[in-house]
Amino acid sequence: MTFVVTDNCIKCKYTDCVDVCPVDCFHEGPNFLVIDPEECIDCTLCEPECPANAIFAEDDVPDDQQDFTALNAELALEWPVITEKKDAPDDAAEWDGVPNKIDYLER
Ligand code: SF4
Ligand code: SF4
Repeated sequence: MTFVVTDNCIKCKYTDCVDVCPVDCFHEGPNFLVIDPEECIDCTLCEPECPANAIFAEDDVPDDQQDFTALNAELALEWPVITEKKDAPDDAAEWDGVPNKIDYLER
């Protein structure tokens, strides 16, 4: 199994999650993070760290966000690894909880 980053991370990208991951499986894009399913060891540490509640175990990804499992796998191959927390975007709080941010995903 793996953990999956879902819609509410888009444009929030608080990066609290990367500090706790023991195997450096987060990859960073312009306004979203993904988890590399080949590296994730299911340790569960990142899920409670996300202030946006955007991380789910693969089996618990909400029905309307199932596409994010494949999207994490795809983008993890393209984006560089991120291992240290950084400042969130200035407007992260305004975007937290806005539904269906997938249209704003930058690749
Ligand atoms: S902590 Fe949550 S919102 Fe922040 S980068 Fe990680 S998954 Fe995205
Ligand atoms: S579950 Fe563990 S190994 Fe997987 S992404 Fe989260 S912190 Fe990293």
